[in-house]
Amino acid sequence: MATVRGLKCRECGRPYPADPLHVCEFCFGPLEVDYDYDRLRGTLTRKAIESGPPSIWRYRALLPIEGDPAVGLHCGMTPLVRAKNLARALGMREVYVKNDTVNHPSFSFKDRVVAVAITKALEFDFKVVACASTGNLANAVAAHAAEGGLQSFVFMPADLEQGKVIGTLIYSPTLVAVEGNYDEVNRLCSEVADKYRWAFVNINIRPYYAEGSKTFGYEIAEQLGWRTPQHIVVPAAGGSLVIKIWKGLKEFERLGLLSGPCATRMHLAQAEGCGPIVTAIKENSEIIKPVKPRTIAKSLAIGNPADGYYAYKVVKGSGGHGEHASDDEIVEGMKLLASTEGIFAETAGGVTVAAAKRLIEQGRIPRDESLVLCITGNGLKTQEAVAPSLKVSLQIKPTLRSFDESMTSHGIEVTPRNLS
Ligand SMILES: *Cc1c(COP(=O)(O)O)cnc(C)c1O
Ligand SMILES: [Zn+2]
Repeated sequence: MATVRGLKCRECGRPYPADPLHVCEFCFGPLEVDYDYDRLRGTLTRKAIESGPPSIWRYRALLPIEGDPAVGLHCGMTPLVRAKNLARALGMREVYVKNDTVNHPSFSFKDRVVAVAITKALEFDFKVVACASTGNLANAVAAHAAEGGLQSFVFMPADLEQGKVIGTLIYSPTLVAVEGNYDEVNRLCSEVADKYRWAFVNINIRPYYAEGSKTFGYEIAEQLGWRTPQHIVVPAAGGSLVIKIWKGLKEFERLGLLSGPCATRMHLAQAEGCGPIVTAIKENSEIIKPVKPRTIAKSLAIGNPADGYYAYKVVKGSGGHGEHASDDEIVEGMKLLASTEGIFAETAGGVTVAAAKRLIEQGRIPRDESLVLCITGNGLKTQEAVAPSLKVSLQIKPTLRSFDESMTSHGIEVTPRNLS
């Protein structure tokens, strides 16, 4: 059931048809998908959603596609893990990890946005899709384009991690490595998009693409038993994910799907070396000052975030805050999540854990309140970040004696807990 009324300017409210457009001709504000919520109220019930497929498409009535989903049928419904060990380590009572390290098919939350964008590109009858990427979007676009039988062009900074490069090339796109940072890649892509009439998922298809991120929020609420947590910590690059999680929770509230009101505080996590939105939050300034990225969290390395202002508004409006994470804290955060919960997240996950830790220590996230951490990408793609700080525990000859000697010389003891 299509409930899309069209597009609408976020600034002046002018309506537009549901075409491949992304900016308002009058005020240059961003366009957003507009739904007929009155029609959904009462028909989109918890039961209707629960009887849907175990994927993002169970929320299809709130996604901007007209026909059936064309790609990404197994995307979404990733685990919401009750993270008891991590909670203990953080001194918290109730912590959950929304684990998109295992999202399908390309192991990051970007599969959500791209499954929607590529389905929409096929509905618009585009033959070529493209994107500017910090890595995960490249993986997701190349994978879904392959599935949808579309040609794809992927533009990325030339210095990305090997896991992101190989994890894109394997799908046979045209990968363009640009000698510059993401902001330069993005500027170039605006020119390319003007000249070549392709479906650029984060340019002319952006209003549709961005809606896919709402499913991250829908799933958190549904998996918590149709309620929302008191706090969510979200990593930000361009700032779209945090806005859309919030939009998703508010839509559920408006449609009467939640047990109570949504009083969630949205907190933002960015790296110290590229944290312009968090800096603005700390300074109480609506003006996001662009920065030159210098961080190991390359997937979040956007110095001039397109949705920075709106992300700022969501965080402030919800009563949340923001924190930075240094490169060392990012690595520590990745190790903490892995050693407590058995979840290997990429650098962005380290940013989220580290920022949450700071916010807890500051009392911004009280220890007796519920917290969801958004873990958005898989650690196998950013091994360079942790490799220097990890080493093989023991190297031995294939004999029991060599093993015993090595255990003794390294002072490794077997604790009773490990024995049981
Ligand atoms: C893209 C990305 C983000 C941030 O998304 P925005 O919507 O641009 O803020 C977070 N985590 C990972 C792993 C990403 O790839
Ligand atoms: Zn406008």
